[in-house]
Amino acid sequence: MMTDIQRKRKPILPSVAAAVYKRGHWLCHWCKRPVILPQAMKLLEGELRQSGWTAPMALFHNNWTRDAAPLLDELGATLDHVIAHNRDGAHTLENFVTACAKCNVRKSDGELATWLQRDKRKPVKGKYGEPTAWDGLSGLFVVLASRVQGNLTMNDRAWLKALTENPSEPVAETVLASTAFRINGTH
Ligand SMILES: [Zn+2]
Repeated sequence: MMTDIQRKRKPILPSVAAAVYKRGHWLCHWCKRPVILPQAMKLLEGELRQSGWTAPMALFHNNWTRDAAPLLDELGATLDHVIAHNRDGAHTLENFVTACAKCNVRKSDGELATWLQRDKRKPVKGKYGEPTAWDGLSGLFVVLASRVQGNLTMNDRAWLKALTENPSEPVAETVLASTAFRINGTH
């Protein structure tokens, strides 16, 4: 069940995730669907509540459950490994791709074998080309986060920093490699 996977998900450094998502134009590497930044949905829900919207909403839930956050259940942005590798394998930017919540594998070698045999989302293809300007709602996140500075979590702050600092500069490979190694160490 996706919710179990989501619950077990380890936090990933926003600086690494942002670099990978931007490089992939915020599209799922596997099925090409547009992904969305979950933090944007969380702040959007907060913004609507602040504005007096009282109807039930299902924009954000920590576990990305279908009942409470259907968009995230389908399209929440995650990091995935391109190729299954053991824990001693290379940990560079090239080893990470963007994956939507449904395609996310979080794979060990064993899980990958199962996943490859499973029915997968059929990749979508645009008749008029692929979106190159889709930003995963990261722009919305930056605008809303800037408004509620005082109420941001540490993770939100890290995302704001990752999305606003040197937005067009490629992240140094060496930095990414060491960061990625630390992430992997938490698995
Ligand atoms: Zn996908």
